[in-house]
Amino acid sequence: MRKYVIMGVQGSGKGTQAKMLREDLDLAHISVGDIFRWHVRQHTKIGAQVKRAMAAGELVGDDLVEEVVRRRLGIHDWNYGFIIDGFPRNGRQAEFFMESYDIDAVIHLELPDDEVRRRVLSRRLCPNCGMDYNLIADRPEVEGRCDICGHGLITRVDDTPEALEARLTDYHAKTRPVLELFRRKEVVHDVDGRPPVDEVQSAIRKTLGLSGYRADD
Ligand SMILES: [Zn+2]
Repeated sequence: MRKYVIMGVQGSGKGTQAKMLREDLDLAHISVGDIFRWHVRQHTKIGAQVKRAMAAGELVGDDLVEEVVRRRLGIHDWNYGFIIDGFPRNGRQAEFFMESYDIDAVIHLELPDDEVRRRVLSRRLCPNCGMDYNLIADRPEVEGRCDICGHGLITRVDDTPEALEARLTDYHAKTRPVLELFRRKEVVHDVDGRPPVDEVQSAIRKTLGLSGYRADD
């Protein structure tokens, strides 16, 4: 059984990398963000708490994150292991998580802040069909127009430079103690998040001692 944590700033591609590992290794991909989105859509009690926090411009509290993860892992559908994304959020959670689940590895996708800015601020969204674009990597064929439905593209409201700076500061402040704790346990694998997706995946597999990744599989 493989038990992994994946960490990386917004725009580092950790969701994509986690999905690639999940498919190949039959892991459960536990994304705290996805779980919260599900609760909001299903109008659960947790969903209401998440919405309240977001409406107040706050991050969802660490305790709520912990509860959601505990419940999710309690389902025990992860026969081959899991890869978790968005948890732990602080040193205390990291300590508890290490001891309770005997984590095999922490994949830390490294991306310099300047590259995060470049990636995030070039994101565009089609408000009509939901298709995502990136002016660097996935340009629309006609500037400012959705390839699928032709609707005009917009920038997400929270992708302003000011909002991004606030998220970056928060990410570093929260992540530092967690990473330090994991480093002391010698489970951290630093991976450069700058190369293309397939190369990053290959690097992850190499450092974890898994069989190679071939993009054309
Ligand atoms: Zn569209």
